[in-house]
Amino acid sequence: MTLTPLGLDPTLCFIGGAWVRALASARLALINPSDGSALCEIACGSDADIDRAVQAASAALHGDWGKATAAERGRVLARIGQGVLAHVDELTQLEALDVGKPLKQARADVIALARYMEFYAGACDKVHGETIPYLDGYTVYTLREPHGVTGHIIPWNYPMQIIGRSVGAALAMGNAAVLKPAEEACLTALAFAEIARQAGLPDGALNVVPGLGAEAGAALTRHPGVHHVSFTGSVGVGKLIQETTARNVVPVTLELGGKSPQLVFDDADIDAALPFLVNAGIQNAGQTCSAASRILVQRGVYDRVSAEMGKRYDAFRVGPALRDLDVGPLISARQKDIVEGYLAKGDGLQVVGRGQIVDDAPAHGAYVAPTLFTGVDPDHVLAQEEIFGPVQVIIPFDTEEEAVQIANGTDFGLVAAVWSQNGARQMRLAKRLRAGQVFLNNYGAGGGVELPFGGTGLSGHGREKGFEALYGFSTLKTVAAFHG
Ligand code: ADP
Repeated sequence: MTLTPLGLDPTLCFIGGAWVRALASARLALINPSDGSALCEIACGSDADIDRAVQAASAALHGDWGKATAAERGRVLARIGQGVLAHVDELTQLEALDVGKPLKQARADVIALARYMEFYAGACDKVHGETIPYLDGYTVYTLREPHGVTGHIIPWNYPMQIIGRSVGAALAMGNAAVLKPAEEACLTALAFAEIARQAGLPDGALNVVPGLGAEAGAALTRHPGVHHVSFTGSVGVGKLIQETTARNVVPVTLELGGKSPQLVFDDADIDAALPFLVNAGIQNAGQTCSAASRILVQRGVYDRVSAEMGKRYDAFRVGPALRDLDVGPLISARQKDIVEGYLAKGDGLQVVGRGQIVDDAPAHGAYVAPTLFTGVDPDHVLAQEEIFGPVQVIIPFDTEEEAVQIANGTDFGLVAAVWSQNGARQMRLAKRLRAGQVFLNNYGAGGGVELPFGGTGLSGHGREKGFEALYGFSTLKTVAAFHG
């Protein structure tokens, strides 16, 4: 498969500014989740390829990239953003084929990637240290410096957005990045590398090595030449990565998903809330870390919200990504099995809405009908575990106190929303909800490139996006000068 007009060969790795063959001959097959067909082959990077990539990144830090001023880094990031926009149709198509996203969702991801580049291009020369009043005869100041080589292990659900927020911020601070995309979806990561090359990013500042998590991913996390690892993915792998990086005492940023609630009170503007309530469940077929998979509804509006959300679910159409319907396939047959396993655990619960898979959907596509359960007990497995599929549960509550207990009653803490016209309640709950982001009368806030994002508990730690990410991708040095 040639990715025209970028002219990519997806069986290659991008190391030291060049497209190179992986040292091992094995390849991985990428599957088109819309029909189960083989899309193309990709390289299966090994320990040795990761080592080459880390060495190339290290060399970049001692070469042109390491010498670039903050303003020069900003200029090259801005050109990458322009390159992304120049290839918007092609990137949209690649992401739709690779991840199974309906075209409009894939397109939104391309625009978000460009926005990350624009944001971090502008931020490069606006991060600075401070002077600290100290003893007589001293001048003390701080310097923000790059960690060095940063490892980025990303999942398949939002490759472009996650590249934007982690690689964008790392490059902005002058790190050199090694990116290991997911084995299920890596085409836009490769395309991004070519766009960066064409934009003039110095050799080695970005390296991309596709491969298996347990091989290339693990090699990246244990490599002694890596100084920071950012990981987005499952809780199990996040724990492993934290253990592995601990051996080299390397800092990690972990974004591991959630079971995020939206709280709907009797005094909420229900018509305004409804699109946010359902979209946050079915966007990207529910394969979203910040999916609002729990909808907590106060008793006075419970019947209405259940019925209205159910109606919207019944109207959802599910089919191939290129048909651009409401919902596409899941990433893989394996993910479909996992989600169907959860649906089976919902036997006996009341289903209040269910979308429809179009009749002519390919038999081997990974399709699951979006399903909305209501009247669910907060301790039920469907209300506790991250499903990563188009499944939402509605949980009734009576009082504000009860709503907080339920909302905070999982092991996760990524995002939450409050729908209420009562300002005092909004302020109270914004403080009490256990989450890295709280939305008041909205959810998701238009992508939020500028807004710090990350979680607590099993949702992980560290913050990406916005300026906060720049602090995470840098280290602080204090300089104390005695001059008498
Ligand atoms: P999912 O279950 O959603 O596929 P994973 O956590 O398994 O999420 O994968 C997310 C990313 O982590 C992918 O790029 C994958 O290759 C990588 N990965 C998986 N296992 C490991 C591991 N042991 N070490 C490092 N990276 C891994």
